[in-house]
Amino acid sequence: MSKAIRIFDNGGPEVMQFVDVDVPAPAAGEITLRHESIGLNFIDVYYRTGLYKQSLPAGLGMEAAGVVQAVGEGVTHVAVGDRVAYACLPPGAYAERRTMPAEQVLKLPASIEFDTAAAMMLQGLTVQYLFRQTFVLQGGETILFHAAAGGVGLIACQWARALGVTMIGTVGSDEKAELARMHGCTHTINYKTENIVERVKEITDGKGVPVVYDSVGTDTFYDSLNCLAPLGMMVSFGNASGPVPPFSLSELASRGSLFVTRPTLFSYARTRERLEHMAADLFDVLESGKVAPMISARYALSDVASAHADLESRATTGSILLKP
Ligand code: NDP
Repeated sequence: MSKAIRIFDNGGPEVMQFVDVDVPAPAAGEITLRHESIGLNFIDVYYRTGLYKQSLPAGLGMEAAGVVQAVGEGVTHVAVGDRVAYACLPPGAYAERRTMPAEQVLKLPASIEFDTAAAMMLQGLTVQYLFRQTFVLQGGETILFHAAAGGVGLIACQWARALGVTMIGTVGSDEKAELARMHGCTHTINYKTENIVERVKEITDGKGVPVVYDSVGTDTFYDSLNCLAPLGMMVSFGNASGPVPPFSLSELASRGSLFVTRPTLFSYARTRERLEHMAADLFDVLESGKVAPMISARYALSDVASAHADLESRATTGSILLKP
């Protein structure tokens, strides 16, 4: 048995129930893990509310770090006692213990702590594919990145600085602006008090940016398009303010042959080979000291409702952990 969060309905934070669940012995290809630290992500909110669908009842949570307690037949790349971490679907990481496919976990280098891994697997792998695969940053570019003081955002600030990229980050308060700048963001725009498009044009001498990374969604979509230089790429990777409604392709033509992509981590990390390559890049940048998670809060797993309420109300910055 294990304590775990289950939802029986979609809705507000109150639908998350702290219950006892069975943890089956691992079948062939599976392992059982004891979680030491669990990462909280905005995507967990989408699964809780039902914006992202799954059949109910269901677990929540997509990343954690812990110790292997048992291995099923045929598992060779990890053994009992190994320190591992993962970011995966289907949700179910909000638990003290979990049985899951072994191929989804990665062995942790000794230098990477459980909390760092739980804060970085999903958010760090996301920045890896955004910066190193979706629009490959070479250094020297000026980019626009929304929600720069959030979990993904503060990792992006540091990774951009490490790559020699000038990042313009949007944020919802002056305190968040300062935090983003401390983490390597060159210019900040408080989108509650400043006009995003005017400021971006000012910073780029009217040229616009070659890429916008937009996880805010509906509230920022057209501002993002209006900040792009001709042939620029709009990377729409999240919906914190709601999903982007359908739009006409002529919006891309009239702004200069723009590109739009709507990527997901799990299509980039869809094979073991791809996952290992992305994780190696992430572990390298972590071990170099150029990128480190900013863990702003830790909540008991049983208090996950408070953590969700704080994340949704935009009260949080950086990465947030749940402690089993
Ligand atoms: P964050 O810590 O960044 O929290 C979300 C932030 O979005 C808030 O802090 C807030 O910052 C901003 N925001 C803007 N409008 C709203 C709104 N109406 N309601 C709530 N927040 C709002 O979360 P994560 O780091 O976990 O994730 C960031 C984004 O990246 C999410 O949209 C997530 O879905 C997406 N994502 C996508 C992935 C993919 O592969 N496609 C993978 C991982 C994450 P502020 O107050 O400064 O505006």
